[in-house]
Amino acid sequence: MKAGIVGLPNVGKSTLFNALTSSKAAQSANYPFCTIEPNEGIVSVPDDRLRRISVHIVPKKLVPTALKLVDIAGIVKGASEGLGLGNKFLSHIREVDAILQVVRCFEDPDVVHVAGAVNPVSDIETIEIELMLADIQTLDNALPRAERTAKGGDKEAKQRVDVIRKCLDHLATDEPLRKLTLDESDAKAISSYGLMTAKPVLYVANVDESDLEGEGPLVQQVREFAAKTGASVVPVCAKLEAEIAELDEADRAEMLASSGLQQPALATLTREAYRVLGLHSYFTAGEKEVRAWTIPIAATAPQAAGVIHTDFEKGFIRAEVYTLNDLETYRSEKEIRQAGRLRVEGKNYVMQDGDICHFLFSN
Ligand code: GDP
Repeated sequence: MKAGIVGLPNVGKSTLFNALTSSKAAQSANYPFCTIEPNEGIVSVPDDRLRRISVHIVPKKLVPTALKLVDIAGIVKGASEGLGLGNKFLSHIREVDAILQVVRCFEDPDVVHVAGAVNPVSDIETIEIELMLADIQTLDNALPRAERTAKGGDKEAKQRVDVIRKCLDHLATDEPLRKLTLDESDAKAISSYGLMTAKPVLYVANVDESDLEGEGPLVQQVREFAAKTGASVVPVCAKLEAEIAELDEADRAEMLASSGLQQPALATLTREAYRVLGLHSYFTAGEKEVRAWTIPIAATAPQAAGVIHTDFEKGFIRAEVYTLNDLETYRSEKEIRQAGRLRVEGKNYVMQDGDICHFLFSN
């Protein structure tokens, strides 16, 4: 899973990206190369349930699940026509699963605003328009080819032509594709185009240090805007996060407490990103490791097993499942089994968030 950080220049994207990817909390022994490329990093998804499981099943190591972040610089008004870094950066956005749009909600006379004044809703609209224009270009380019193939009688191409036209009509009403409902088969017909306004978006309101809860008027404007499209808003102070990221564990806790934050933004952000992506986690727990795995919310037990290894999905027989609650009540798998709380689930079982599992499979 990959999320792209976008936003106008000088809104705090790089500050946030660096804070998230360089954070000592984000780093983990399992992802030693946190920064893959200058603008690409992997962050562990903080999850306190790993620690809670390991109280009862003591492993050699804890393995959190991870999210890939890309800092996509260079979006400016006119980007879809090649201004700024133009099309180069747009191609990066096509590859991500979700967009984290940083919106400037902090006032600072020393930091120039590209449009002259801090106006988060207008900033969001500027970017949305560029992405819509780029999607229109993509679809305009794809249409003639799909039409040619459709003429030869290709059924899939015919469907693609219909969906492309439907998307173009929708974009002509100045609405992002996110708001167009397509059934699974239609969505699949155009999935290879990486249409940007169809991707889920999360607004990251970069707030002033004096407004960490995001209660000021600027963040409220973003919230009202987001509510109309069903998007979420997470207030973050990138500058403070960058300072927190530098600290080791003990100092970090102290800094969080003194600034009135419950947890670093990384935790809130990754949790929200999971939600907009329709993802959750399940766990495997043994002496070797206690580990979190990411799955789509509707994933069945065999699909969940397939995230560990494709053979597990193919040869899936059954899963033994229990909850963290059970573990905290009975304190060991043996006791859970004896109490009759260890469930045996078959191939149609839909995984629940936080399930702890063993999979049985044949080779
Ligand atoms: P980018 O162009 O969007 O990547 O923006 P940068 O991360 O480079 O930030 C632009 C400037 O804004 C830098 O001087 C940052 O120090 C400053 N900045 C970023 N976040 C905050 C913030 O939360 N508050 C204040 N006051 N300044 C910030």
